[in-house]
Amino acid sequence: MRLPKVTRFLATVATAALAALGTVTVDAAPASAAVRNVCYNTSQAGPFASYAVQAASIWNNRTNNINMAQCGSNLMIYYTYGGGSYAQRTSLGNGRVVIDYYQAQQYSPLRIMTHEIGHILGLPDNYNGNCAILMSGGSAGASCTNPYPSTAEAARVDQLFGFAAARSATTPQVFTGSWPAPATAGAQR
Ligand SMILES: [Zn+2]
Repeated sequence: MRLPKVTRFLATVATAALAALGTVTVDAAPASAAVRNVCYNTSQAGPFASYAVQAASIWNNRTNNINMAQCGSNLMIYYTYGGGSYAQRTSLGNGRVVIDYYQAQQYSPLRIMTHEIGHILGLPDNYNGNCAILMSGGSAGASCTNPYPSTAEAARVDQLFGFAAARSATTPQVFTGSWPAPATAGAQR
């Protein structure tokens, strides 16, 4: 049986601690209760597959209640040419992310990926121009390459995934326009 990350970690810690005490009893089952798998699929992600893997790693490292892994197709990653990157959330942890190849030439592809996955994980846009805020998206400018959610953003995801009532209250939604259209004919910087 493949154990969720927290269980594995705690089991390792518990085993080490108990080994030091000279006992062999390990019971880490309760610790896994809040961790939920978010299974993503990169088979249609083309050149952005590696960014999806990096983004999943970032979300796993910054949160406690989710474990993103390539274990299914709850979250499909696609890419397209033009039209803008977007996220379509069908329910918390489920949906699709589409990366616009051209947009990813102008804005950090990893920041775009982590941001759009943030929508799937329950976060709304927050266009405040602050590069330290992942969900500020393109409002922080093309020079902003920060791919990390803030402490508050990560805590919100943990909160949503940690309680059944919060999970069920997350509505289906399509998030578009997080990144300004790629510059054409010098019209935009
Ligand atoms: Zn967005």
